[in-house]
Amino acid sequence: MNILVCIKQVPGTTEVKINKETNTLVREGAKGIINPFDTYAIEEGVKLKERFSGKVTVLTMGPPQAEASLRESIEVGADEGILISDRAFAGSDTLATSYVLSKAIAKIGSYDLIIVGKQTMDGDTGQVGPEIAQRLGVPFVAYVSAVEEITDGKIRARQMIDEGYQIVESPLPCVMSVSKEINTPRLPSIRGKMKAKSAKLANWTAKDLGAEENKIGSAGSPTWVMQIFSPKRDHQSEMFQGDAQSKVSKLTQKLSDMKVI
Ligand SMILES: Cc1cc2nc3c(=O)[nH]c(=O)nc-3n(C[C@H](O)[C@H](O)[C@H](O)COP(=O)(O)OP(=O)(O)OC[C@H]3O[C@@H](n4cnc5c(N)ncnc54)[C@H](O)[C@@H]3O)c2cc1C
Repeated sequence: MNILVCIKQVPGTTEVKINKETNTLVREGAKGIINPFDTYAIEEGVKLKERFSGKVTVLTMGPPQAEASLRESIEVGADEGILISDRAFAGSDTLATSYVLSKAIAKIGSYDLIIVGKQTMDGDTGQVGPEIAQRLGVPFVAYVSAVEEITDGKIRARQMIDEGYQIVESPLPCVMSVSKEINTPRLPSIRGKMKAKSAKLANWTAKDLGAEENKIGSAGSPTWVMQIFSPKRDHQSEMFQGDAQSKVSKLTQKLSDMKVI
Protein backbone atom coordinates (compact mmCIF):
# COMPACT_ATOMS: atom_id res chain seq x y z
CA MET A 1 0.00 0.00 0.00
CA ASN A 2 1.17 3.46 -0.85
CA ILE A 3 0.16 5.59 2.13
CA LEU A 4 0.54 9.38 2.21
CA VAL A 5 0.24 11.29 5.47
CA CYS A 6 -0.21 15.08 5.52
CA ILE A 7 1.13 16.80 8.62
CA LYS A 8 1.36 20.42 9.67
CA GLN A 9 3.96 21.99 11.94
CA VAL A 10 2.27 24.22 14.51
CA PRO A 11 3.71 26.50 17.20
CA GLY A 12 4.46 24.45 20.32
CA THR A 13 3.24 27.20 22.61
CA THR A 14 0.11 29.19 23.33
CA GLU A 15 2.22 32.36 23.61
CA VAL A 16 2.14 33.08 19.88
CA LYS A 17 2.56 36.67 18.72
CA ILE A 18 0.25 38.19 16.14
CA ASN A 19 1.32 40.54 13.36
CA LYS A 20 -1.23 43.35 13.82
CA GLU A 21 -0.81 44.60 10.22
CA THR A 22 -1.32 41.30 8.40
CA ASN A 23 -3.40 39.54 11.08
CA THR A 24 -1.23 36.46 10.75
CA LEU A 25 0.68 34.47 13.34
CA VAL A 26 4.34 35.36 13.83
CA ARG A 27 5.83 31.89 13.57
CA GLU A 28 9.49 32.98 13.66
CA GLY A 29 11.10 32.05 16.96
CA ALA A 30 8.23 29.80 18.06
CA LYS A 31 9.42 26.21 18.33
CA GLY A 32 7.41 24.06 15.99
CA ILE A 33 5.88 20.72 16.87
CA ILE A 34 3.90 18.24 14.80
CA ASN A 35 0.21 19.16 15.10
CA PRO A 36 -0.84 16.72 17.89
CA PHE A 37 -3.74 15.27 15.84
CA ASP A 38 -1.28 14.50 13.03
CA THR A 39 0.79 12.24 15.29
CA TYR A 40 -2.20 9.85 15.22
CA ALA A 41 -2.26 10.11 11.41
CA ILE A 42 1.43 9.15 11.21
CA GLU A 43 0.98 6.28 13.67
CA GLU A 44 -2.00 4.92 11.72
CA GLY A 45 -0.02 5.09 8.48
CA VAL A 46 2.83 3.13 10.06
CA LYS A 47 0.44 0.58 11.63
CA LEU A 48 -1.33 0.01 8.29
CA LYS A 49 2.04 -0.42 6.59
CA GLU A 50 2.94 -3.05 9.20
CA ARG A 51 -0.44 -4.78 8.69
CA PHE A 52 -0.72 -4.67 4.91
CA SER A 53 2.90 -3.84 3.86
CA GLY A 54 3.84 -0.83 1.75
CA LYS A 55 5.35 2.59 2.22
CA VAL A 56 4.50 5.70 4.24
CA THR A 57 5.37 9.10 2.77
CA VAL A 58 4.82 12.18 4.91
CA LEU A 59 4.15 15.57 3.31
CA THR A 60 4.15 18.99 4.87
CA MET A 61 3.63 22.44 3.42
CA GLY A 62 5.37 24.99 5.58
CA PRO A 63 8.50 27.04 6.21
CA PRO A 64 11.98 25.41 5.99
CA GLN A 65 11.96 24.56 9.72
CA ALA A 66 9.02 22.17 9.11
CA GLU A 67 11.72 19.76 7.91
CA ALA A 68 12.25 18.83 11.58
CA SER A 69 8.68 17.49 11.74
CA LEU A 70 9.34 15.28 8.71
CA ARG A 71 12.43 13.85 10.41
CA GLU A 72 10.40 13.21 13.57
CA SER A 73 7.89 11.30 11.42
CA ILE A 74 10.69 9.09 10.07
CA GLU A 75 11.87 8.49 13.66
CA VAL A 76 8.53 6.82 14.39
CA GLY A 77 8.38 4.68 11.26
CA ALA A 78 7.58 6.78 8.16
CA ASP A 79 9.74 5.97 5.14
CA GLU A 80 10.03 9.25 3.27
CA GLY A 81 9.35 12.94 3.77
CA ILE A 82 8.52 15.73 1.35
CA LEU A 83 8.82 19.39 2.36
CA ILE A 84 6.70 21.69 0.22
CA SER A 85 8.12 25.12 0.85
CA ASP A 86 8.21 28.38 -1.05
CA ARG A 87 7.80 32.04 -0.09
CA ALA A 88 5.08 32.17 -2.73
CA PHE A 89 2.89 30.03 -0.42
CA ALA A 90 2.87 32.70 2.36
CA GLY A 91 -0.61 33.93 3.22
CA SER A 92 -2.32 30.80 1.89
CA ASP A 93 -5.75 30.06 3.35
CA THR A 94 -7.13 26.50 3.44
CA LEU A 95 -8.20 26.61 -0.21
CA ALA A 96 -4.69 27.53 -1.36
CA THR A 97 -3.13 25.04 1.09
CA SER A 98 -5.25 22.17 -0.23
CA TYR A 99 -4.43 23.23 -3.80
CA VAL A 100 -0.69 23.01 -3.09
CA LEU A 101 -1.00 19.69 -1.24
CA SER A 102 -3.15 18.17 -3.99
CA LYS A 103 -0.62 19.30 -6.62
CA ALA A 104 2.11 17.57 -4.59
CA ILE A 105 -0.01 14.41 -4.28
CA ALA A 106 -0.67 14.48 -8.03
CA LYS A 107 3.10 14.77 -8.58
CA ILE A 108 3.64 11.66 -6.42
CA GLY A 109 1.10 10.06 -8.73
CA SER A 110 0.32 6.70 -7.18
CA TYR A 111 -1.36 6.39 -3.78
CA ASP A 112 -3.93 4.18 -2.06
CA LEU A 113 -4.71 6.11 1.09
CA ILE A 114 -4.15 9.69 2.26
CA ILE A 115 -4.35 10.23 6.02
CA VAL A 116 -4.84 13.62 7.68
CA GLY A 117 -5.50 14.75 11.24
CA LYS A 118 -9.03 15.81 12.10
CA GLN A 119 -7.98 19.43 12.64
CA THR A 120 -4.99 21.56 13.57
CA MET A 121 -4.30 23.24 16.88
CA ASP A 122 -3.75 26.68 15.34
CA GLY A 123 -5.90 27.14 12.21
CA ASP A 124 -8.40 24.60 13.57
CA THR A 125 -10.68 24.64 10.52
CA GLY A 126 -10.67 20.93 9.66
CA GLN A 127 -11.11 21.99 6.02
CA VAL A 128 -7.86 20.89 4.44
CA GLY A 129 -8.61 17.11 4.38
CA PRO A 130 -12.01 17.34 2.66
CA GLU A 131 -10.67 19.99 0.28
CA ILE A 132 -7.80 17.69 -0.80
CA ALA A 133 -10.32 14.88 -1.42
CA GLN A 134 -12.53 17.20 -3.47
CA ARG A 135 -9.59 18.43 -5.53
CA LEU A 136 -8.35 14.87 -6.23
CA GLY A 137 -11.89 13.63 -6.91
CA VAL A 138 -11.70 10.83 -4.29
CA PRO A 139 -13.98 10.04 -1.30
CA PHE A 140 -13.39 11.57 2.13
CA VAL A 141 -13.94 9.50 5.26
CA ALA A 142 -14.02 11.72 8.36
CA TYR A 143 -13.29 11.10 12.06
CA VAL A 144 -12.04 7.52 11.74
CA SER A 145 -11.45 5.86 15.13
CA ALA A 146 -10.50 2.40 13.79
CA VAL A 147 -9.63 0.79 10.47
CA GLU A 148 -11.49 -2.52 10.45
CA GLU A 149 -10.31 -3.95 7.13
CA ILE A 150 -8.67 -3.09 3.83
CA THR A 151 -9.47 -5.59 1.11
CA ASP A 152 -10.45 -5.75 -2.57
CA GLY A 153 -9.64 -2.07 -3.11
CA LYS A 154 -11.93 -0.98 -0.27
CA ILE A 155 -11.48 0.30 3.26
CA ARG A 156 -13.94 -0.44 6.07
CA ALA A 157 -13.63 1.97 8.97
CA ARG A 158 -15.27 2.95 12.22
CA GLN A 159 -16.37 6.56 12.03
CA MET A 160 -17.13 8.61 15.14
CA ILE A 161 -20.53 10.30 15.17
CA ASP A 162 -22.39 12.21 17.89
CA GLU A 163 -24.36 9.15 19.01
CA GLY A 164 -21.39 6.74 19.01
CA TYR A 165 -19.92 5.30 15.82
CA GLN A 166 -20.91 3.83 12.48
CA ILE A 167 -19.13 1.48 10.11
CA VAL A 168 -18.45 2.99 6.70
CA GLU A 169 -16.94 1.53 3.57
CA SER A 170 -15.17 3.46 0.84
CA PRO A 171 -13.33 2.55 -2.34
CA LEU A 172 -9.61 3.31 -2.41
CA PRO A 173 -7.94 5.66 -2.97
CA CYS A 174 -9.57 7.95 -0.46
CA VAL A 175 -8.67 10.62 2.09
CA MET A 176 -9.30 9.71 5.72
CA SER A 177 -9.15 11.98 8.77
CA VAL A 178 -8.39 10.31 12.07
CA SER A 179 -9.47 11.07 15.60
CA LYS A 180 -7.26 10.56 18.64
CA GLU A 181 -9.16 7.43 19.68
CA ILE A 182 -7.62 5.50 16.76
CA ASN A 183 -4.26 4.61 18.35
CA THR A 184 -1.49 5.55 20.74
CA PRO A 185 1.41 7.14 18.88
CA ARG A 186 4.66 5.27 19.53
CA LEU A 187 7.89 6.76 20.81
CA PRO A 188 10.87 7.00 18.45
CA SER A 189 13.29 4.07 18.38
CA ILE A 190 17.09 4.45 18.31
CA ARG A 191 17.03 2.88 14.82
CA GLY A 192 14.37 5.35 13.73
CA LYS A 193 16.36 8.28 15.09
CA MET A 194 19.46 7.17 13.17
CA LYS A 195 17.46 6.68 9.98
CA ALA A 196 15.83 10.10 10.36
CA LYS A 197 19.13 11.87 10.90
CA SER A 198 20.56 10.78 7.56
CA ALA A 199 17.28 10.62 5.57
CA LYS A 200 17.31 12.61 2.35
CA LEU A 201 14.11 14.62 2.16
CA ALA A 202 12.56 15.93 -1.03
CA ASN A 203 12.04 19.69 -1.18
CA TRP A 204 9.43 20.92 -3.64
CA THR A 205 8.72 24.52 -4.60
CA ALA A 206 5.77 26.11 -6.40
CA LYS A 207 7.68 25.71 -9.69
CA ASP A 208 8.32 22.00 -9.06
CA LEU A 209 4.57 21.50 -8.64
CA GLY A 210 3.62 23.63 -11.64
CA ALA A 211 1.37 25.59 -9.24
CA GLU A 212 -0.52 28.49 -10.82
CA GLU A 213 0.44 31.82 -9.24
CA ASN A 214 -3.16 32.96 -8.80
CA LYS A 215 -4.03 29.84 -6.79
CA ILE A 216 -1.35 30.10 -4.10
CA GLY A 217 -0.44 32.52 -1.32
CA SER A 218 -2.59 35.61 -0.71
CA ALA A 219 -3.52 35.84 -4.41
CA GLY A 220 -5.06 32.37 -4.30
CA SER A 221 -6.83 32.86 -0.97
CA PRO A 222 -10.42 34.09 -1.17
CA THR A 223 -10.65 34.37 2.63
CA TRP A 224 -8.67 36.73 4.83
CA VAL A 225 -8.45 37.46 8.52
CA MET A 226 -10.21 40.73 9.47
CA GLN A 227 -9.11 40.73 13.09
CA ILE A 228 -7.29 38.34 15.35
CA PHE A 229 -7.22 38.61 19.15
CA SER A 230 -7.15 36.62 22.34
CA PRO A 231 -10.62 36.46 23.90
CA LYS A 232 -11.00 38.46 27.13
CA ARG A 233 -12.31 36.37 29.99
CA ASP A 234 -14.72 38.41 32.05
CA HIS A 235 -15.70 36.15 34.94
CA GLN A 236 -17.81 37.50 37.77
CA SER A 237 -18.85 35.36 40.68
CA GLU A 238 -21.27 35.81 43.53
CA MET A 239 -21.67 33.54 46.53
CA PHE A 240 -25.14 33.10 48.01
CA GLN A 241 -25.32 32.62 51.76
CA GLY A 242 -27.95 30.86 53.87
CA ASP A 243 -29.57 27.44 53.83
CA ALA A 244 -30.13 25.46 50.63
CA GLN A 245 -33.73 26.70 50.21
CA SER A 246 -32.80 30.39 50.43
CA LYS A 247 -29.70 29.92 48.22
CA VAL A 248 -31.86 28.39 45.48
CA SER A 249 -34.47 31.15 45.67
CA LYS A 250 -31.74 33.85 45.57
CA LEU A 251 -30.18 32.13 42.57
CA THR A 252 -33.48 31.80 40.66
CA GLN A 253 -34.30 35.45 41.46
CA LYS A 254 -30.89 36.50 40.12
CA LEU A 255 -31.32 34.45 36.92
CA SER A 256 -34.79 35.87 36.48
CA ASP A 257 -33.45 39.46 36.92
CA MET A 258 -30.83 38.68 34.29
CA LYS A 259 -33.64 37.38 32.04
CA VAL A 260 -31.86 34.00 31.81
CA ILE A 261 -34.99 32.21 33.02
C1 LIG B 1 -7.21 34.02 5.53
C2 LIG B 1 -6.11 33.17 6.01
C3 LIG B 1 -4.80 33.62 5.87
C4 LIG B 1 -3.75 32.84 6.32
N1 LIG B 1 -2.49 33.29 6.21
C5 LIG B 1 -1.46 32.54 6.66
C6 LIG B 1 -0.12 32.98 6.57
O1 LIG B 1 0.16 34.06 6.11
N2 LIG B 1 0.87 32.18 7.02
C7 LIG B 1 0.57 30.96 7.55
O2 LIG B 1 1.50 30.25 7.96
N3 LIG B 1 -0.70 30.52 7.67
C8 LIG B 1 -1.71 31.27 7.22
N4 LIG B 1 -3.00 30.85 7.35
C9 LIG B 1 -3.23 29.56 7.94
C10 LIG B 1 -3.25 28.53 6.87
O3 LIG B 1 -4.16 28.79 5.87
C11 LIG B 1 -3.66 27.25 7.52
O4 LIG B 1 -2.65 26.97 8.43
C12 LIG B 1 -3.76 26.11 6.54
O5 LIG B 1 -4.61 26.38 5.50
C13 LIG B 1 -4.25 24.87 7.23
O6 LIG B 1 -5.53 25.12 7.78
P1 LIG B 1 -5.85 24.61 9.23
O7 LIG B 1 -4.70 24.96 10.10
O8 LIG B 1 -7.19 25.09 9.59
O9 LIG B 1 -5.85 23.02 9.01
P2 LIG B 1 -7.00 21.96 9.18
O10 LIG B 1 -7.90 22.01 8.01
O11 LIG B 1 -7.62 22.05 10.54
O12 LIG B 1 -6.09 20.67 9.09
C14 LIG B 1 -6.62 19.36 8.92
C15 LIG B 1 -5.48 18.45 8.54
O13 LIG B 1 -4.97 18.78 7.24
C16 LIG B 1 -3.56 18.56 7.20
N5 LIG B 1 -2.88 19.84 6.98
C17 LIG B 1 -3.29 21.08 7.30
N6 LIG B 1 -2.36 21.99 6.93
C18 LIG B 1 -1.35 21.31 6.37
C19 LIG B 1 -0.10 21.69 5.80
N7 LIG B 1 0.30 22.96 5.76
N8 LIG B 1 0.71 20.72 5.32
C20 LIG B 1 0.33 19.41 5.36
N9 LIG B 1 -0.84 19.00 5.89
C21 LIG B 1 -1.67 19.94 6.39
C22 LIG B 1 -3.17 17.98 8.56
O14 LIG B 1 -3.26 16.57 8.50
C23 LIG B 1 -4.27 18.52 9.47
O15 LIG B 1 -4.47 17.76 10.64
C24 LIG B 1 -4.04 31.60 6.92
C25 LIG B 1 -5.36 31.17 7.04
C26 LIG B 1 -6.39 31.95 6.61
C27 LIG B 1 -7.82 31.46 6.77
